[in-house]
Amino acid sequence: MFNEKAQKMKLDDIRELQEKRLLKQVKYAYENVPMYKKRFKEEGIKPSDIKKLEDARKVPFTVKDDLRDHYPYGILAVPKEKVVRFHASSGTTGTPTVVSYTKKDMDVWGDLMARCYDSAGVEPEYIVQNAYGYGLFTGGLGFHQGAEVMGCAVLPTSTGNTKKQIKMMNDFQTEVLAATPSYAIYLSEAAEKYGFDPLEDFNLKVGMFGAEPWSEEARESIENSLGIKAQDVYGMSELYGPGVAVECPEQNGLHIWSDEFLVETIDPKTGEVLPEGEKGEIVFTMLTREAMPLLRYRTKDVGSVTYEECECGRQHPRIEKIEGRSDDMLIVGGVNVFPSQVEAALLETEGIGEHYQIIVDRDVLDKLYVRAEVDKDHYESSEYDEEKLKKEASENLTAVLNIKARLKLLEPGTLPRTVGKAKRVIDQREEQDRIEEL
Ligand SMILES: [Zn+2]
Repeated sequence: MFNEKAQKMKLDDIRELQEKRLLKQVKYAYENVPMYKKRFKEEGIKPSDIKKLEDARKVPFTVKDDLRDHYPYGILAVPKEKVVRFHASSGTTGTPTVVSYTKKDMDVWGDLMARCYDSAGVEPEYIVQNAYGYGLFTGGLGFHQGAEVMGCAVLPTSTGNTKKQIKMMNDFQTEVLAATPSYAIYLSEAAEKYGFDPLEDFNLKVGMFGAEPWSEEARESIENSLGIKAQDVYGMSELYGPGVAVECPEQNGLHIWSDEFLVETIDPKTGEVLPEGEKGEIVFTMLTREAMPLLRYRTKDVGSVTYEECECGRQHPRIEKIEGRSDDMLIVGGVNVFPSQVEAALLETEGIGEHYQIIVDRDVLDKLYVRAEVDKDHYESSEYDEEKLKKEASENLTAVLNIKARLKLLEPGTLPRTVGKAKRVIDQREEQDRIEEL
């Protein structure tokens, strides 16, 4: 087992180490990041007020805008000369957020990602086909480095050129696919188009999937079509990148590497810390980050954390599957709707394919439209009955959403395909470019 000592830490030891590291990290951030010193002063607290783990709740939050406000170098606690890597968000919605790493941070990140591969069931002799984008995005290089630290061979195919991707998957008989779940689905469809049967021709064993929320039904579909164990990997650029938490073979939540991350769940409206196990916004403090020590970083991800022991023997607490991003959450006619709920309802309906779009519009009242492709095999089969399928899928949607969705079934292949994160939600309540024909 890779870094067994860290992976198999007892919960009491984790908590003891967290406390020691938290106290040190708060002091470090206060002394080296002017933003924190200022914020602590405004709140009337000093690092010495943080005496035990529970005092973490006294520490002010950090949010994404704090990073934007510190463009270009980000929240730096070290002289620029000590930085060995920068990554940045795409900045499509404004100023990019930049994150930075020292040599020590890179080592920690590599170790965390290697633990993820190990926990997910990857063996050092496997070849990892890394189809995450290389570049400013942390996905490509994060999955790359971790695989090398683990001792695997990496095939850095990056995104795009699907035909070549499939050829190499076959020629190299790669055991691991690291990709977004939507790209994995796309790949399995494309493989068939190019004349491969993934179950017969490929040698895939484990999928390392992250960077977007996905449902249990999507997992099942990927596992069946590619013949792999599809494992969820969680992280975000602000917290090194991928590698914060990962599933183990039990697939019952994602173990958070809690010797490095202190997790809290808060009420997103009031900021109050919620009791263990309650659903809320997930907040992380990086306990040893050197270049940019973020304290109580608000992820906007909604989920719950359990401390119950896992069959795998790891005592690191688990995030039960991320339900969605509080940013992604749509409020339609006063009802909260997560795109992941729509996906779950659609994939639960036999005969519906993996590609769909959610459109929110308004005339007098908010309206929720769902456009979903019919599964190709089902569409071509004699069983296909549009009315019947539509009725069944609509009922499944109503059951999870508590609001009526207007469903339209589409022919297979109608919706645009994507190689990165899929754009599945269109909120045109404010937009000018409307899709008129719904
Ligand atoms: Zn486990």
